[in-house]
Amino acid sequence: MDIHEYQAKEILRASGIPVPPGEIATTPDEAVAIAEAYGGTVVVKAQVHSGGRGKAGGVKLAATTSEVREHAENILGMTISGFTVGKVLVTPAEDIDTEAYVGVLIDRKAQAATFIVSAEGGIDIEEVAHSDPDAIHRLTVDPRYGLMRHQAYGLANSLYEDPALVKQAAKIIHQLYAAFTSSGASMIEINPLIVTVAGEVKAIDAKMSLDDSELFRHPALLEYRDLSAEPAAETKAREANLSYVKLDGNVGCCVNGAGLAMATMDLVKYYGGEPANFLDIGGSSDPEKVISALEIITSDSNVKVILINIFGGITRCDDVARGIVEATTRIDIEPPIVIRLTGTNDKEGLAILAEAGFSAFSSMDDVVERGVEMAKAG
Ligand code: GDP
Ligand code: MN
Repeated sequence: MDIHEYQAKEILRASGIPVPPGEIATTPDEAVAIAEAYGGTVVVKAQVHSGGRGKAGGVKLAATTSEVREHAENILGMTISGFTVGKVLVTPAEDIDTEAYVGVLIDRKAQAATFIVSAEGGIDIEEVAHSDPDAIHRLTVDPRYGLMRHQAYGLANSLYEDPALVKQAAKIIHQLYAAFTSSGASMIEINPLIVTVAGEVKAIDAKMSLDDSELFRHPALLEYRDLSAEPAAETKAREANLSYVKLDGNVGCCVNGAGLAMATMDLVKYYGGEPANFLDIGGSSDPEKVISALEIITSDSNVKVILINIFGGITRCDDVARGIVEATTRIDIEPPIVIRLTGTNDKEGLAILAEAGFSAFSSMDDVVERGVEMAKAG
């Protein structure tokens, strides 16, 4: 679950990290009122679950009331990476001397929290990794011992030379690790971690993802869920108990079982296609799940063909077939559907499909090849 910058900053503040104050506005009037209360120059910042807001025009300095109003008017309602901005954070502007990058995330390979830091912050860290890989320092934390003092200092030393700054940064890195572990985060990124002209180290941006599987341990953090800021398809999938990940291709995939779903996506690639999503309807036999799955897939306008690949084990093919037929009567499905149905009760399933005018493949190779062909043609 991704959360907003202002929410991540609340968590960082609670861990003791120096973060400038800030308040949320949903209208230009509110933004002006907040800015007037702070006095001086403020920053108006789009609150969306996306980085790169600065580049997109969603982060603006405002020195006067009329500038605050103008920027708030422009930013509210703006679209950034497909998300519509409904809220802005208004925060006093800092006088920046330098910008660094400090991130901590779960490294799946190392199976542990890993810090990534760079003195070259503010910009895309992926860009730095590409153009100047030596500017990036990594450290994996052994979960048995946690982050040790010398490790925090080591990371801080790679950011700054001035011992006064190193000391502040080491403390922040410690606090960041505490915030990370105590909130069940999978990623926290401070970019930039700034040094102010007065020589103070502060976090002025924060991006944070909470591990969905840890949320039950942190019920208070569930309040941070902002349904209006999440892709509607993901919300719907979660409510329907489906595992869904949107991807960039045009072959919509509806599969039972995560392993088969992965294999299906591999095969789509093998035949020269691009999957539009990962979607696992799970092992149960609930026709409603198939209907929800088809609703989710068809809500993605990139989808040119729907590829249903069912290998019935616990899942019964006749139930899936009923779900498909029911879905086509309930919702308008524009893209063509190709189906592969085999396994438990496949004869009954095929009969149900045939009655509704559908045919089905029994071979996975054949259905994927056909699906990719149709996606290319459509
Ligand atoms: P992002 O583009 O989504 O990562 O948003 P950021 O919060 O990181 O802002 C982008 C850039 O705007 C930063 O790297 C800074 O250069 C600039 N910026 C943000 N806040 C301030 C501020 O308080 N003062 C100044 N001078 N620049 C800021
Ligand atoms: Mn940033």
